[in-house]
Amino acid sequence: MHPSSLLARRTWQEIGGGFLLVPVGSTEQHGPHLPLSVDTVVATAVADELARRCRAAGQEALVAPAVAYGASGEHEQFPGTVSIGTRALALLLLELGRSASAWAQRIVFVNGHGGNLDALAEAVPRLRDEGRDAAWLPCAAPAADPQVGDSHAGRTETSLVARLRPDDVRWERAEPGASEPLPDLLPRLRIEGVRAVSPNGVLGDPFGASAAEGARLLDAMTDTAWVRLRHGRVAANGCLVPGETGVADA
Ligand SMILES: [Zn+2]
Repeated sequence: MHPSSLLARRTWQEIGGGFLLVPVGSTEQHGPHLPLSVDTVVATAVADELARRCRAAGQEALVAPAVAYGASGEHEQFPGTVSIGTRALALLLLELGRSASAWAQRIVFVNGHGGNLDALAEAVPRLRDEGRDAAWLPCAAPAADPQVGDSHAGRTETSLVARLRPDDVRWERAEPGASEPLPDLLPRLRIEGVRAVSPNGVLGDPFGASAAEGARLLDAMTDTAWVRLRHGRVAANGCLVPGETGVADA
């Protein structure tokens, strides 16, 4: 097999089918201390590791250039956020999948941003209805204490960036935001946006984050994604879910 698993580094003569993993992220505020690219960086890291594991198992797999814009309307009150919205993202994923499936055996979108779920749930089942082998999977960190909110730019994401892009963490600016569990924040957040519930854009608390914890989280995330990729079944919304338990995923 060719040494690089990056689609962008191959020539057309070096493409022989196989899986195409497409990281899907966002360009979205992540508090005063993390860059706008967090979701894209995490999705790309998981996709890279999945490709490595596929290829080690004899399955050709390539990682496409990431989709770095997503549906982030709830963060638009913060400068730097660029959202293309659910409609445009769904169309982008649909056309990307149609085009790539001319040569790729299977398209798997590796999603790093929860706001993209509606677009994935629209585009991927449609690709499948058209007879194309497409699916998506989330980059899901192991569940922490459900009583403590950590959904955005908190301890988990800060640890992941500390592992993947250590120079991009502004530790001196790290501070807690709204730390109520996400379900408690959601009703107001959906109507008024993130800024109404958290003026600094953080939902959680970065305190305690570290690169070592990020490495453990990334391994756990990749292990879960790997099980989905290898053994999962595709649910009605296009998501690869663990086959036996059939756990639905958000
Ligand atoms: Zn994020």
